Amino acid sequence: MMGERTVMQEPLFYEFSLERHVPADHLLRRIDRFVDLTSIREHLRPFYSDTGRPSIDPELMIRMLLIGYCLGIRSERRLCDEVHLNLAYRWFCRLGLDGAVPDHSTFSKNRHGRFRDSDLLRRLFETTVERCLVEGLVGGEGFAVDASLIKADANRQRSVPGNEGLPAEAVSHAVREYLTVLDDAAFGASTPVVPKFISVADPASRWTGANGGLAFFAYSTNYLIDLKHAVIMDVEATTSIRQAEVTAQRRMIERTQERFGVWPQRLAADSAYGSADNLAWLVHERGIEPHIPVFDKSGRENGTFERSDFRYNHKRDVYICPGGKELRQYWQEGRAAKARPPIDGLYRYRARKLECDSCSLRAQCRPGEQGRKVLRSIHEGARDLARELSGTDAYVTSRRERKKVEMLFAHLKRILKMDRLRLRGPNGAKDEFLLAATAQNLRKLAMLLPAGVPATAG
Ligand code: SF4
Repeated sequence: MMGERTVMQEPLFYEFSLERHVPADHLLRRIDRFVDLTSIREHLRPFYSDTGRPSIDPELMIRMLLIGYCLGIRSERRLCDEVHLNLAYRWFCRLGLDGAVPDHSTFSKNRHGRFRDSDLLRRLFETTVERCLVEGLVGGEGFAVDASLIKADANRQRSVPGNEGLPAEAVSHAVREYLTVLDDAAFGASTPVVPKFISVADPASRWTGANGGLAFFAYSTNYLIDLKHAVIMDVEATTSIRQAEVTAQRRMIERTQERFGVWPQRLAADSAYGSADNLAWLVHERGIEPHIPVFDKSGRENGTFERSDFRYNHKRDVYICPGGKELRQYWQEGRAAKARPPIDGLYRYRARKLECDSCSLRAQCRPGEQGRKVLRSIHEGARDLARELSGTDAYVTSRRERKKVEMLFAHLKRILKMDRLRLRGPNGAKDEFLLAATAQNLRKLAMLLPAGVPATAG
């Protein structure tokens, strides 16, 4: 006989405890141990008036946003529905069974107001880094940096050719934000190159084909991570251009040193960060060993001797060519004393024409040239150090560990479902990247310090 539920659904009173209904191993319960919003409340206090109608509790909104970013719920409308219906979400938000869930439009209003004015989301992210430091998850010895393209909420249909510029009727939050970052080295001032297309909906996003497939509008999320447990130490939104990503790397290193007093000894990165001036900045200004492949365009495709075939003698400041002859900057006495630093940042070393003319290696060395010349960057010392480091065991370890930042990007896109931004403008990208990095650090804390392991703080 087929059974039938006969229990009535309408009892007047329930004895119900949300606490008992959230499993001990639920992700939100594990994360909750590391969410301490006390300092956030204090941080926000100056931005709220003491009079008037009470506003929606900012802690509730932050907890809801954390659910959304930790569990890959990308729509705020859907997030509100889910929090309304899901017991674990209600428990995490301290809503009880009958607490009211704010309307999805509340997030947008607060984002454009108090949250951005107070830089709240950065403060929230930094609380997770502080917690990782307290729990001993940050080694502080080796960092890695990288950037990843995230599609912007913009498409080719609503774009104009880059050389035409934005139409006069384009007015929106995103357009106003675009105008404010035109002189920022992480956005408009990162390159003089005009993009092929400009999005009317989100002009600060960059038209890029860098992934090798179809081109699209994108922003870059930049991560600076500690290599011990891949804790994200800092995150920065930039336009999707290599120069902007290098600017972000500098800003993140400086900020990490200022905010947390953490100075890494080595930085692992790919060759996009291996330009001469960036290596010099790391070595001379920050005292960081660059475990970075040197960005070198001196290779020749016609089979003639490359710069690497010429040996540099530090002591005498000369290059020795494969024919055993010297290349110098100055052949005349006294010229060196009068010389000024080169405007383009490159010293020129030349061989004697007489010696080259009679050289048996001439055809391999300077076909069609008057005299052989070798260029040396004013930052070549830092490049030489990076080349020397590339032969060490520590460098091999760094190259392997560098993959940790790529794994974080894969996790960001596949698990947290951030393969496309929902918000527009540089501030929208910044908000989303900060929240995603906060979620990743919280998940890391929850994974490395499970409930049986006593947490140090909180
Ligand atoms: S051509 Fe000149 S620079 Fe080149 S190997 Fe011969 S002597 Fe040296």
